[in-house]
Amino acid sequence: MQIRSADLVTSASDLGGCPDWDRPEFALIGRSNVGKSSLINLLTGRNGLAKVSATPGKTRLMNFFLINQQWSLVDLPGYGFAKVAKEEAHAFNERSGDYIGRRACLRCVLVLIDSRHPPQRIDMDFIEWLSGTGVPFVIVFTKADKQSAGKTRANAAVFREHVAARIGVEPEILVSSAVSREGRGDVMKFIESRLAGNP
Ligand code: GDP
Repeated sequence: MQIRSADLVTSASDLGGCPDWDRPEFALIGRSNVGKSSLINLLTGRNGLAKVSATPGKTRLMNFFLINQQWSLVDLPGYGFAKVAKEEAHAFNERSGDYIGRRACLRCVLVLIDSRHPPQRIDMDFIEWLSGTGVPFVIVFTKADKQSAGKTRANAAVFREHVAARIGVEPEILVSSAVSREGRGDVMKFIESRLAGNP
C-alpha cells in the first residue's frame, strides 16, 4: 500500500472526544519506550508524525492519524508509565480500556513488545484482558535490529508459549525495526489484509 497522506486528526482524552467517523481503526499500545511512535513514523513514512520519545504528558492522549483519507492508526496511551504515580497509570489504562472495549470501528489492536526482553507480567496481564474483550489483536515485536535474528525468533517462541498458556491460543507475532525498516512490509500487509476484511 502506498501512503499518500497521513495526518494527525485529533487527540482525545476520552471516548467522547474520538472522531465521529466509521473509518477502520488500528490501535497501537505498549509500554512506554517500546517504540510506538517510531513504528507509526516507519509505517507512514513520515518522520516526526508521531513524536519519538514525547514527554509523558503528550502520550496520555489518544492520537488519531488518518491514513489515505481511508483508515486510521490510533496511538493509545501506553501502560506501565515509569514517571507517574501508580493511580495515574491506572487511569491511563482505563482510558485505553474504555476505547478498546467500546469503540465500534476498532478493527484490531497492535500490541507492541520489545523483542529483547523475556515476557513481562504487565504485558501478559494486558493481553489476557484484551483477549477477553474479543477484539482482534496481533503482537508486534519492536527493535529487532538490536539483536540477532536467531535471538528474536527464540524470544518470539517463548512469548508465544507464555501467551498460549494464559489465553489458550498462540498469538500471531510480527517482527519490526524502525532502524533497519525490517517488518514494515509485513505490518502493512497485515493491515491491508484486515482492511480487505480478512480475519
Ligand atoms: P514510544 O515511547 O513507545 O513511543 O517509543 P519511541 O518510538 O519514542 O522510542 C523510544 C526509544 O527507542 C527512542 O530512543 C527510539 O529511537 C528507540 N527506538 C524505537 N524503535 C527502535 C528500533 O526499532 N530500533 C532501535 N534501535 N531503537 C528504536
